[in-house]
Amino acid sequence: MNVTLTNTAKKLCIIGDPVIHSKSPLLQNAMCQTLGLDYVYLCQPVKAERLGAFLEAAKELGYAGFNATMPFKELLIPYLDELDPLAAKLGAVNTVCVREGRLLGYNTDCPGYVAALREDAGFDPAGKRVLLLGAGGAAKAVAVGLGDAGAAQVTVANRTAAKAQAVADLIPGQGRTAAWNAETLAEEAAACDLIVNATSLGMAGQGEYDDLSFLERLPQGALVSDLIYHPARTAFLARGEALGHPTLNGLPLLMRQAILGLEKFTGTAVPPETVVPVLKKLLEQ
Ligand code: NAP
Repeated sequence: MNVTLTNTAKKLCIIGDPVIHSKSPLLQNAMCQTLGLDYVYLCQPVKAERLGAFLEAAKELGYAGFNATMPFKELLIPYLDELDPLAAKLGAVNTVCVREGRLLGYNTDCPGYVAALREDAGFDPAGKRVLLLGAGGAAKAVAVGLGDAGAAQVTVANRTAAKAQAVADLIPGQGRTAAWNAETLAEEAAACDLIVNATSLGMAGQGEYDDLSFLERLPQGALVSDLIYHPARTAFLARGEALGHPTLNGLPLLMRQAILGLEKFTGTAVPPETVVPVLKKLLEQ
């Protein structure tokens, strides 16, 4: 896309390693143009060992803020002057505002996922039973988001059991764990309203599930959600769809966390009804 630059444009960026694949510049610049906000958003590769140097440069150069992807969501925390309570609970930050030389950290993946469920899949998590596959950073955000949204039960299954327990412990009274084996996954799938793939299985270049037969046990109408958006239709989603289930890929989460991030950067409300059609069109291309 073409970006109209002014000499007064406030600077934003995404940092990561690798980061060149990121869709955030596309989405954020499109929103700024649509809303007439005088900002420019860049893609900024940063090596982990140069994070401190980047942060000093961001303050010195007058950046308004930045997003963070792998490996910085956790690495950033010791450098921040303020951490909002949700980001502190998750131990992960994806949005940093730079205000008067101070770094303020937020996590918009968590509310972004709940917004994607509600707005893009028409699914209200309140009172629902969820089977959450995976226990990395994204799974933590999903678990806490679902917990705060009133899910009745979030069952976490992960290859490394101790990490599943740590995620379940984030939402006491709602979180529990299940073993990572075909038989248990099938039993748990039979008793859920929403199943979420928050592992990296199915992501381009990251390996695949050996066996997806547990999806056959899902109750009719259960929502099948995958956080992955590259590819847009994983084998997990394709199987769910073939079995007649509604599905949700990772693009709505990407879009919703970006909207919430821009609100943090600019301190102003971003009307979803104005930007969502623009973002959807870009993401469909
Ligand atoms: P992460 O912290 O590295 O966690 C990876 C998860 O995948 C862990 O639970 C890990 O299990 C599991 N896993 C990896 N290889 C496995 C295998 N061979 N068998 C079984 N489990 C395996 O990654 P993350 O940041 O949580 O991201 C997870 C996925 O969500 C990624 O695909 C990412 O692209 C996607 N994501 C999407 C968005 C979006 O905007 N749509 C945002 C964030 C993340 P162990 O704990 O046993 O290693």
